[in-house]
Amino acid sequence: MEKIYFVGAGPGDKELITLKGYKLLSKADIVIYAGSLVNPELLDYCKDGCSIYDSSKMSLEEIIGLMEEGAKKGKIVVRLQTGDISIYGSIREQGEELKKLGIEYESIAGVSSFLGAAASMGIEYTVPEISQSLIITRIEGRTPVPEKEKIESFASHQTSMVIFLSIQRIEEVVKRLLEGGYKKETPISVVYKATWKEEKIIIGNLENISEKVKKENIKKTALILVGDFLGDNYNYSKLYDKYFSHEYRKAIE
Ligand code: SAH
Repeated sequence: MEKIYFVGAGPGDKELITLKGYKLLSKADIVIYAGSLVNPELLDYCKDGCSIYDSSKMSLEEIIGLMEEGAKKGKIVVRLQTGDISIYGSIREQGEELKKLGIEYESIAGVSSFLGAAASMGIEYTVPEISQSLIITRIEGRTPVPEKEKIESFASHQTSMVIFLSIQRIEEVVKRLLEGGYKKETPISVVYKATWKEEKIIIGNLENISEKVKKENIKKTALILVGDFLGDNYNYSKLYDKYFSHEYRKAIE
């Protein structure tokens, strides 16, 4: 019996899948991909005769059923999901179901969209002395968010934040970020379809971003980045400072 491979597809650009993911995709007999978010260009890597299924129209039972059937026949089954599978990937439930059936699985890391978005913007989430932490979160939708993880409480840290799955309620996000403690001039950007050909980057502050997002009519596949790391203040790191010694380099006296 073959195992199932959970592969992170990367954020969109078809060259942003890992080499390991690419190799698996090109030899897979069955590919079940998340059609709502995975760039279909990635399916060009599949071999002739590969059976391709779009999971956006399927239930968990159907997905697991396909995996089981494939694994039992000794086929190579790839479950292709957007970005990295560990971030809002609904992977746990798939893994648990496979365990019940005695089917092994292996996960292949992917480039998450929050990393693709940073690369597209050419920015760093952890700017020395501005912010050294990154909060990855969302606001509640049909999936609730635990009470102790309210966005207002994260906002009180005023560090770098990436907000997934929340663009449809940008006005509420902004209101709650302000309530939590960010100042209204705090920079915020929205990255739509990071690394896709259709990518759009919108830059503003907490006061004007909602209006800009509405004008661009962005309603899905977008990330909200907020914090002073997007602003004009920055400091150089000690790591490359010629007057600063560390394990690998001696400082100039
Ligand atoms: N596992 C994925 C996230 C899945 S949740 C990852 O690691 O990126 C789906 C949400 O991710 C979307 O609603 C959107 O907020 C974000 N997202 C996924 N791909 C994106 C992209 N290319 N650009 C911007 N946001 C993206």
